[in-house]
Parts: sequence; C-alpha cells; structure tokens
Amino acid sequence: MSSKKSEWVSQKIVILGTGGTIAGLSLVPGAGGDYKAAQVDVETLVAQAGQAVAGISSSLSATSLPPVLSAEQIAQVDSKDMTEAIWQRLLQRVAQLQHDPAVQAIVITHGTDTLEETGFLLHACWPQGKPVVLTCAMRAADAPDADGPGNLRDAILMAGTPGLTGVRMVCNGQVFEGHVFQKVRTDGLQPFGADPIGAMGACHEGRYVQHSEPEKTRAYPPVTPAELERLLAADRWPRVEIVMNHVGADGRLVEHALTVSASSPDHERLRGFVVAGTGGGSCSERLSAALQSAQQQGVLVWRSTRATWGSVRSVSHERLKGVPWSPVKARVAMMLDILTGRASTTC
Ligand code: ASP
Repeated sequence: MSSKKSEWVSQKIVILGTGGTIAGLSLVPGAGGDYKAAQVDVETLVAQAGQAVAGISSSLSATSLPPVLSAEQIAQVDSKDMTEAIWQRLLQRVAQLQHDPAVQAIVITHGTDTLEETGFLLHACWPQGKPVVLTCAMRAADAPDADGPGNLRDAILMAGTPGLTGVRMVCNGQVFEGHVFQKVRTDGLQPFGADPIGAMGACHEGRYVQHSEPEKTRAYPPVTPAELERLLAADRWPRVEIVMNHVGADGRLVEHALTVSASSPDHERLRGFVVAGTGGGSCSERLSAALQSAQQQGVLVWRSTRATWGSVRSVSHERLKGVPWSPVKARVAMMLDILTGRASTTC
C-alpha cells in the first residue's frame, strides 16, 4: 500500500489571472453577446474548471492524483489595456514560480487582443523553462456557450504534460508556441493563426499531441539569466512607438514625436520606432527620411511589415534594420533589447 502511494504524484499548477473575455460577464446576465471583459476573479474560473480537470486527469492516469490548483490574480484588465507595469508584475511572479520546486507548471488567463505580445515576451524569457500555458476565450464566462471553461481545462491539463517545457498558448483545442501566433480574426472561437505552419499541436480531452517541432527562426534570442535579472529589476520600460507606412505617409508624425520627446523628462524620452512598413517592410521616401533622421539622433528604428504574414526584405539603400516579427512583437523585442542592454540608444 505504502509503496503504491509513493508512486502517486500530485502536481501543483499555479493559475495567474490577468482578465480578458475569459473573465468577462454578459451585459444581460447569462445571455452571451455583448459583455464586459475582466469581471470574474480567477479563483472562480479555476473552481469551475477544476471539476473537469479532476475528472479527466483521473481517467487518464490511475497512478497520478489530480493537480493541486492554486489561483492568483495578477491583474484584472481587458487586454487592450495591458501595460508594461502589469507585465513587470507578471514576469516577477513567473520568475518566482519558475524557481519554486513545489510548482510544476504555470497557466495564465489573458484577453485575446494582446495575447501575442505577452506570449512573445514570456517565450523570450523562458523558452525552455517550466511549462507556461496561456489561454483565453472569445465568449464571456457566463455566456450559455462559453468557451473559456474548456480552454482553461485544456490549459491546465496540458500544463501537466510530462516533459513539456517552454511557453504555449491553447485556444479552441489548438496549441501554438508562445512566440508564433497572432490574432487574425475578430470573431469565431479560433481567432489565432500562425504562419506558415499553423498550430504546433492539439489538445483533446486532456491529451496534448504535438504535430510539429518548436519554431526557432522567429524566436527572440533567449534572455540570459543575467539579462533576466536586469529586466526584473527595471523600474520603467522604454518608450517605443509603432508608426505605419500608408498612402500619404509623410513622416510628420515621427517628427512631431521627436519634438515632444526632446522636451520630455529623461524617462519619457522616445527610445525607438518600429515601422509597420508596406509589403516587405518598405516605407515612403518621406517617412523613410524622417525615420533615418530619428536614427541619427540616437533613436532605434526597426522595419517590420503591416502585412499579416511573410517576411521583411532587406533594403540595402535604407539604413533601417529589418526584423522578422510583426510590428507589435518587434516592439516587445526592441524594448527587451534596450532593457537587457543588447541595444543602446542615446536618447
Ligand atoms: N477585449 C478582450 C481582451 O482582450 C478580448 C478577448 O479576450 O477576447 O481582453
């Protein structure tokens, strides 16, 4: 009896809540449709998902106990309102949990709107760490056909997969690596896509099946332990803005931002621009001139593309670096470069 019991392993999984539709409530209670995001606390969400988790995990394995679930509210926001200050709290807590031997895995509930930015950030910091599984929903928690409980159940079950490492996101049964997915739809139950491979795996009835190997070419070069220390200690994140090339883009927005920055206190100075360029990352001659002038003044400038998928081409006559990420992810990468000291700006 005692030897049998010693084989039983109970895993602790910590679920960090940040808000989003998964924690939303319908404007007409219980009706679905229009809703307000970030209303239900993560403890309630976990309590609801917990029963399904216990049922499925005991049917999957006779020798393991259902995971012990512990919920913590890091923030309660619609993810359009996610901030670097919340990220800082999230990173600090994930860092502690990564070191806690009692914790097997971390699950994060989050809105879909900026999930790809948070996923990219976490993947940069812990590409091979303990599992961090992000999840979300497209329907409010009290909608009759709510998708959040199933997504959260999948995330928790997947987080406990033996041997799993790194950052994943699960939504509507599809699993994506932390840095590769992008919100490409505003409706339906699967708003995410990933180019060119799509989902890297699937989660069905508690089982995670991986279809493809982790993607390496578009990952941020992993943050080292020393760089992570620097990041966790940062009291402010650098100001990096995104500008878009479009018909008539004349660079005046860039010039205006530089003028405002010049009279701002040090910590509010503009440190970088990411340009959401056209096609392979091009910009109009006037926008390009304004950005090159910004670069000469010590502001970092990177070129991305406003196209949803495909790569940025190198343009030798423009001295603006092209990067392999969408504009919002490139912005995260640039902030990381500045915070870790990989890139220096003179602003
Ligand atoms: N506005 C919501 C959010 O990102 C949308 C969602 O979660 O699907 O928080």
